[in-house]
Amino acid sequence: MADISNHLPITNSVPHYSDSDDEDVLQDGLSAKDMIEKGTGLTYNDFIILPGYIDFAPDQVDLSSQLTKKIILKAPLVSSPMDTVTEADMAIAMALCGGIGIIHHNCLPSYQANEVHKVKKYKHGFIHDPVVLSPNHTVADVLAVKKEHGFCGIPITEDGKLGGKLVGMVTSRDIDFLEDMHFANTKLESIMTKLQDLVTAQSGVTLTEANHILEKSKKGKLPIINGQGNLIALMARTDLKKARSYPLSSKDDNKQLIVGAAIGTREEDKARLVLLAQAGVDVVILDSSQGNSIYQIEMIKFIKKNYPNLQVVAGNVVTKRQAKSLIEAGADALRVGMGSGSICITQEVMAVGRPQATAVYKVSEFARKYGIPVIADGGIQSIGHIIKALSLGASTVMMGSLLAGTSEAPGEYFFSDGVRLKKYRGMGSIEAMDRKDAMGSAMNRYFHSDVDKMKVAQGVSGSIVDKGSVLRFVPYLQCGVRHGCQDIGTRSLVDLRSRMYKGQLRFELRSHSAQQEGNVHSLFSYEKRLF
Ligand code: GDP
Ligand code: 5GP
Repeated sequence: MADISNHLPITNSVPHYSDSDDEDVLQDGLSAKDMIEKGTGLTYNDFIILPGYIDFAPDQVDLSSQLTKKIILKAPLVSSPMDTVTEADMAIAMALCGGIGIIHHNCLPSYQANEVHKVKKYKHGFIHDPVVLSPNHTVADVLAVKKEHGFCGIPITEDGKLGGKLVGMVTSRDIDFLEDMHFANTKLESIMTKLQDLVTAQSGVTLTEANHILEKSKKGKLPIINGQGNLIALMARTDLKKARSYPLSSKDDNKQLIVGAAIGTREEDKARLVLLAQAGVDVVILDSSQGNSIYQIEMIKFIKKNYPNLQVVAGNVVTKRQAKSLIEAGADALRVGMGSGSICITQEVMAVGRPQATAVYKVSEFARKYGIPVIADGGIQSIGHIIKALSLGASTVMMGSLLAGTSEAPGEYFFSDGVRLKKYRGMGSIEAMDRKDAMGSAMNRYFHSDVDKMKVAQGVSGSIVDKGSVLRFVPYLQCGVRHGCQDIGTRSLVDLRSRMYKGQLRFELRSHSAQQEGNVHSLFSYEKRLF
C-alpha cells in the first residue's frame, strides 16, 4: 500500500487553516519598494504583478489620471512629440479618446502653432481644412485629388482657397462620366454645381442642425460659409452617418479639445511659445533628453512668470536629484525616461540613462511628495507595459512606436515585401536632425548647429507596420488596461498607486526563462491578432 503520510489530508469539509487570516502568512511576492531597492536597474519585462481579487467588471475601472497638476485625463495616454507621431490629426484622435497629443517642434513655429490651432478649433464632424479648388482648375486636378486623398467632393471658391468666396461644388457625380483623358482639361466652372443650386449652412451651425440639413437635402456634402459667403468648413454625410460620440474626450472649459506642444529651451523658443499660446495650447513640454539643466530651469521660471495658466512639463529625468531641480523651478509634471525608447541609442552612445521601470518608480515616488505627476516616456511596447508603468507610480504613459503606423500619424504608407508600413524615426536620428527650417537652421533638440560641429546620433530611423486608426487602437489599449486592473483587483488608477505605495500591490522579478515562459512558446507557427 502506498504511503500517504506526506499527502494532503482528504476531507469533505471546507478546509480551514487556523493562521489563514494572518497577513504575514498571506504575504507573497515583493512590494515595489523592495523590488526596486535591490539596486539592479529594472525594465518592464524584468518583473510581473501578482493577481488580486476580482469583484467588479472591467468597465467599472476608472482610468482617469493626472497629466499635470491641473489637467486630469480620462485615459492615461499621451502621444509623443515626434515628427512621425504627433501632428493635429493624431492630437485630435488622442483627445477624442480621452488622452492627449503633444505636437512636435521639428518644424517652423508657425506650422506648429497652426497644428495646435487645428486641434483647438476641431469640431467633430466638421472638416476644417478641406481641399479646395478654383473654377479655373480642371477635371485632371479633381482626379489627382481623388487619387491622392480618396475623395472628390471639392468646394470651389473664387481663389481656390479656404476662406475664399464659395462659388460651387464638384462631387463624384459631376466627374463620374468624365474620367476619360478627353475631359482632362475641362475647366471646373463648366461642370461644377453652381452656388445657387447648393445647399449650404452658416457658421455656428450645430452638428444636429447640420445633420438635419443633410438629411433633408439628401446631399453628400455641406459647405459651411460665413456672413460674407466665404467658405470656412465642410461637412461630409459619410462622417455624420458613422458619427460616434466620444464621451471620454479631453476638453477644456470651453469644450474645445486639449492639446500639448513641445518646445526647446533656447532663446528663440520664447517666440515659438508666443505663437503656441496664441493658438490656445494647454500644456507645453520642454523637450530635452537630459532635462536637469540651467536652461530648462530658467525656461520653466520664464513660462510660469509670463504664462501662469499654462501647464509646463519638464524633463526628461530619471533620477530624484534631477527631478528635484525641475520641481523646485516650478514644473507641473515630469517626463521620465532616458534611453528606453524603441528608436533610441542614447544609452549605447552616451553611456547615460536608466532602465525605465526603475526610473519611473524612483522619480514618481519622489515627485508625489510634491504632488507632481509623472509621465512614463518611452519603451512602451504593449498594454502590459502601460499597466506596469502605472503600477510603478506613473500617472500617464507617453508612446511613440505604439502609435506610429496608425493612420493619424504623419506620413504616407508605403509597401515593403507586401507589408504596409509607415516611417518611424527617432528625433535624434541623423535623418530627423537634418530636417531644416525655411532659414536652413536645425530645429532639433538633439542638434544645435551653433554649438555642435558634428552630429552624434541618439536615435535611428525605421518603419512600423500599419495599425489602422487611433480611434480603434486607443480604445483597445484602454480596454486592455481595464482588464489588467481587474486582474490586479483595483477599480481605479488612483487606487492602484495607493495600493502600490502601501505595499499591498505585490510584484515578482522574472528570470530570463520566466520571461520566455510568459511569451508565446512551443508552437510551430501562430498568428498574433490583438483585437
Ligand atoms: P467624396 O464623396 O468622394 O468626397 O468622399 P466621401 O464623402 O465618401 O468621403 C470623404 C471622407 O474623407 C470623409 O470621411 C471626410 O471627412 C474625409 N475628408 C477629409 N478631408 C476631406 C476634404 O478635404 N474633402 C472631402 N471631401 N473629404 C475629406
Ligand atoms: P517609444 O515609445 O518609441 O519606445 O519611445 C518614444 C520616446 O523616445 C519619445 O517620447 C522620446 O522621449 C524618445 N525619443 C524620441 N526620439 C529619440 C531619439 O532619437 N533618441 C532618444 N534617445 N530618444 C528618443
